[in-house]
Amino acid sequence: MAMVKILQYPNLRLRKKGKKVEAITPEITQIIDDMFETLYNTDNCAALAATQLDFADPYHITVIDISPEKSNPICLVNAEIIERKGEQYEQEGCMSVPGGTYEKVKRDNKIKVRALDQKGEPIEREEEGYMAKCIQHELDHLDGKLFIDRLSGLKRRRIDTRLTKLRKAKAS
Ligand code: ZN
Repeated sequence: MAMVKILQYPNLRLRKKGKKVEAITPEITQIIDDMFETLYNTDNCAALAATQLDFADPYHITVIDISPEKSNPICLVNAEIIERKGEQYEQEGCMSVPGGTYEKVKRDNKIKVRALDQKGEPIEREEEGYMAKCIQHELDHLDGKLFIDRLSGLKRRRIDTRLTKLRKAKAS
């Protein structure tokens, strides 16, 4: 197993969409193992999408573990949301958005997700609250989107200005 580098905004590779997984091959299993290894060895990391990692041609895979003991690994392959209910407006951050950027984002409160698990078995999960938010955040990644894309123009510009300053300070 190996850690995989987490791409950082504004890296344009974060705009790639996840490629559909056609079958759970040894290559896919290896990718999932590496994604979990990266998740468990990164501080404060609850979830990762393949498109935010340094894969040349990322698949539609996300790994999630929101349990405090990091003992409940969940892998969703080719996931799609098939039902949405209610609304939540909670703080989000992202392993790919540096500088301790946290903002409130509007999300659906309850979702039903259809996916394959890491063995290729079809699954459906109903989730709400934090877990529902987490899955929506990851599925955005797999669609080439970041949570900051969902903010107002003003908030977004403020973040971009701050991150540009941070990058310049680092480079000098
Ligand atoms: Zn993220």
